[in-house]
Amino acid sequence: MVPPGLEQRLAAELQRLRAVDLYRVRRAVEGGHGVKLVVDGRACVNFCSNDYLGLAADPRLAEAARRALGTCGTGSGASALISGYNAEHARLEEELADFLQRPRALLFSSGWAANLGVLRALLSKNDTLVADELNHASLIDGGRLSGARYVKVPHRHVGTYERVLIQSRDPGPGTRDPGTAGHTMLVTDAVFSMDGDLAPLPELSRLCERHGATLMVDDAHGFGVLGDKGRGALELFPGPGSQVPGPGVYVATLGKSLGAAGAFVAGSDTLIEYLVQRARSWVFSTAPPPAIAAAARAALRIVRAEPERRQRLHHNVARFREGLEQLSAAVGVSRLPPPASHTPIQPLVLGAEARALALSRFLLERGYWVAAIRPPTVPRGTSRLRITLSAAHTPEQIDGLLNALAEGLRTVGRAVPAEEGAPDRPG
Ligand SMILES: *Cc1c(COP(=O)(O)O)cnc(C)c1O
Repeated sequence: MVPPGLEQRLAAELQRLRAVDLYRVRRAVEGGHGVKLVVDGRACVNFCSNDYLGLAADPRLAEAARRALGTCGTGSGASALISGYNAEHARLEEELADFLQRPRALLFSSGWAANLGVLRALLSKNDTLVADELNHASLIDGGRLSGARYVKVPHRHVGTYERVLIQSRDPGPGTRDPGTAGHTMLVTDAVFSMDGDLAPLPELSRLCERHGATLMVDDAHGFGVLGDKGRGALELFPGPGSQVPGPGVYVATLGKSLGAAGAFVAGSDTLIEYLVQRARSWVFSTAPPPAIAAAARAALRIVRAEPERRQRLHHNVARFREGLEQLSAAVGVSRLPPPASHTPIQPLVLGAEARALALSRFLLERGYWVAAIRPPTVPRGTSRLRITLSAAHTPEQIDGLLNALAEGLRTVGRAVPAEEGAPDRPG
């Protein structure tokens, strides 16, 4: 039993969330999580999944998992350092390292666990973490957990990064004991999860090189998607022989474009060995089911063998953006700038929570599922529909969404005025 005092506090907070349109609910999907699915008993087209390549419901992944289930059973039974490390895990790690041309990779049970584990293991209170203000929550929490000095930088602002790196390198007389001067790490999403725009990675890498800092990149939304080969953010760096080194710490997930689950860190031998000794979310957590690793291996083979999926995805993004531009002109949606993003994440920032919710409900009634994204996931006053495209969407489905959006914006625009949602911060 929760004591009455706490029970009351929780109930009051829940009521407050309802009153300000920040209450969240889950909708259960019946069956698979493909582009076409059944939610709350209603058939609809999903436009809010991170399954960018359409692999989550691919039968080849299920077949690979089934085969591994047959030989390995379900659970790994222990953490990797005890007895949970399976040959399927080892092969996946080797294949990821080979694909990304990094010395080693280490498999985690989730991106959340990877980011917490890495930051806590690598940084401590004499160190400095410099982070984009729109970084994923797991990077924020990992940074806090590490105890390092946390410096938040305005979104993609290279000048501020540079200033902070210069200051942390030379703290000045009396500010800190130079003998214990710590290390500085710069951490950023590669593709920002709620905006879809890209971090200025080559510039940040050059800065880190110049100032002796480490660059950590979270490529949850780029891995498998960006680049000709699907090597994600790593393809945004100039090739070998250039002055711009790749990131020292690279994290990507296996539950988004790879349609499986889990995450991994790629980097040097020393980095990976150190994480094996010290990343608490890895050391003290049961290794993922071998069958999931088998599914991820099948997905990685598809990422390598079927570049046409990425091409289809990019065509779909272009079709959506062109349609949206025409729609904005036709509906006269003045407060609807086309997203700056050219990735599969296409946010329609609507401002007020009520507006985003109303449009989301309208679309679901028309058979299109686009969840409303509200604070604290995004800054106050920037509630939005975060539309995500998949290689598995057909042109007809995209056009259908655009038509429903046009109608919805007219209807909802009248019902919930835009002024209510005037953004309270620039950008
Ligand atoms: C989804 C996400 C994570 C967390 O990964 P999970 O495997 O879902 O725990 C971490 N970072 C970013 C940028 C993400 O979008």
